Amino acid sequence: MADATTPTEPLLPPTIDKDGAPFWEYAAQGELRIQACANPSCGELRCPPRPCCPHCQSFEAEWQRMSGRGRIWSYVRPHPPLLPAYAAQAPYNAIIVELADAPRIRLVGNLVAAPDAPLNSVDPDRLRIGAKVQVAFTDVDGIAMPRWLLERP
Ligand SMILES: [Zn+2]
Repeated sequence: MADATTPTEPLLPPTIDKDGAPFWEYAAQGELRIQACANPSCGELRCPPRPCCPHCQSFEAEWQRMSGRGRIWSYVRPHPPLLPAYAAQAPYNAIIVELADAPRIRLVGNLVAAPDAPLNSVDPDRLRIGAKVQVAFTDVDGIAMPRWLLERP
């Protein structure tokens, strides 16, 4: 059995498929973009990315840049049993962020004290639903991972 404190165990990488690949390409440029319908009479944002618009069934899509601002819509404090890399950082948080530019779009992530800070860098007692957050990107094994910072730390 793996030692729960093994620091070399990596965090799980995101699964990057064809539909979602642009999200990660823009993230690598420091941009938070959400897929949108490119039908001029529709324009609905959608997440997770997919080939077809659920509102008008158009296959035309574009990626709209978001401000990167949002608020904590919900959160959890994961507890063991956890994979070793996560157990080493517990207790940490997983938050759901509602985007300021698109209140129906919600992203799952982690609230951290600085872009490169560990997942447990924010005291769980400081988590508040409605708290304003701002995205920041950090390199995790070559992938620009979105993390979230409190607007007022
Ligand atoms: Zn549409």
